[in-house]
Parts: sequence; C-alpha cells; structure tokens
Amino acid sequence: MRETNLSNENTSPQGVECPMCGSKRVRSAIETEVFEYGSGSDAVELKTQVPLHTCLQCDFEFTNELAEIKRHEAVCTYLGILTPKEITSLRNRLDMTRAKFSDLTGLGEASLGRWERGALFQNKAYDKLLRLLQYEENIHCLQAWEEDSVEVTIPIGHEEVITNSVFKALSPEIENEQRKYGQLFYLRPTGSE
Ligand SMILES: [Zn+2]
Repeated sequence: MRETNLSNENTSPQGVECPMCGSKRVRSAIETEVFEYGSGSDAVELKTQVPLHTCLQCDFEFTNELAEIKRHEAVCTYLGILTPKEITSLRNRLDMTRAKFSDLTGLGEASLGRWERGALFQNKAYDKLLRLLQYEENIHCLQAWEEDSVEVTIPIGHEEVITNSVFKALSPEIENEQRKYGQLFYLRPTGSE
C-alpha cells in the first residue's frame, strides 16, 4: 500500500538508474509504504517513508537499498532496538574501528558489521549490551579488565596443577591463583546473531 506525497517529487535523482532498461530518466517520490513484518499471528503492519522510483522510459517502478534501510529502521523502532545508524554512531563516538570495538567488547566483528549495515537485527541481549556501551564509564570498565587480563601470565608447569586439582579442596593461595588463570579465558559469542 502506498500513498504518494507529491510535494517531495523530483525528476532524475542523481545516480539512480532503471534496473529494467538502464535509463537514467527516473522520477522519484517519497511515499508512505506499509509492509508486513513477522509471520502468522505475530505479523504486524509497519509504516515507513521510502523513495519510490519510476522509470520515464519503460514505466518500471522500483525501490533501492535506501528503501531497505528505511524498512529496517522501522522494524528496529518496532522491536525497540538500536538502528544501524545508532550503532555506527555509538562506535564512531568512541573513535574505534570495528576490529577494535570487537576486541574490547567480545562482540563478533562480522555480526557488528551486519548490524551496522542493516543486514541483521541484534537480539535484545546484544542490544542492551550496546546501550550500556553508550555510557563512557562502562567503556572504561572494559578497558580496565582488558589491561588486567594481559598482565597475568601462566608460569611453566602450572598447567598440570590446574588439571589435577579440579575436584580437590584448594588452599586460599592456590584458589586465588586458579581464579587468575580462570580470568584468562572468557567466552565470546560465535558471531551468528
Ligand atoms: Zn526503464
């Protein structure tokens, strides 16, 4: 379902080419698009503004990646999660590359890229983590943990102590040491979400 907003209409927008005949004589208008999100009884109708292009040569109507971005943003708003733009600007405010941000947070670099490009929705848990990272003090916490963990090194011979003493009662000294080794290993998301 579309409602044309004629006041926003213009002809021959830059770089837009008809995918059908290749003509650059394309008219564009911002239209309100209603689309369905979800399936079955969970399906909802969402509304967004997308640029709709019409080829003046062959009359073909089409939308491009800009419309995809708009639809994705509308779904993010419906789900109550950060939009790709918001995630990107969060990372840019920290002046970090994806690789650096992913090192610090343990988030998969590939997933982060997909969230930022709008190719994938982050789940609620990841979204909450991202929201927490909007607070500078939380970034400082992560940085401090990073620094702590690189200071710990495993002395040669201690690997055996760890495997042999798993089910033994530990003296406080050994327990403390074991804790330190434990902190060296942490789980990362596999990057599929
Ligand atoms: Zn055409």
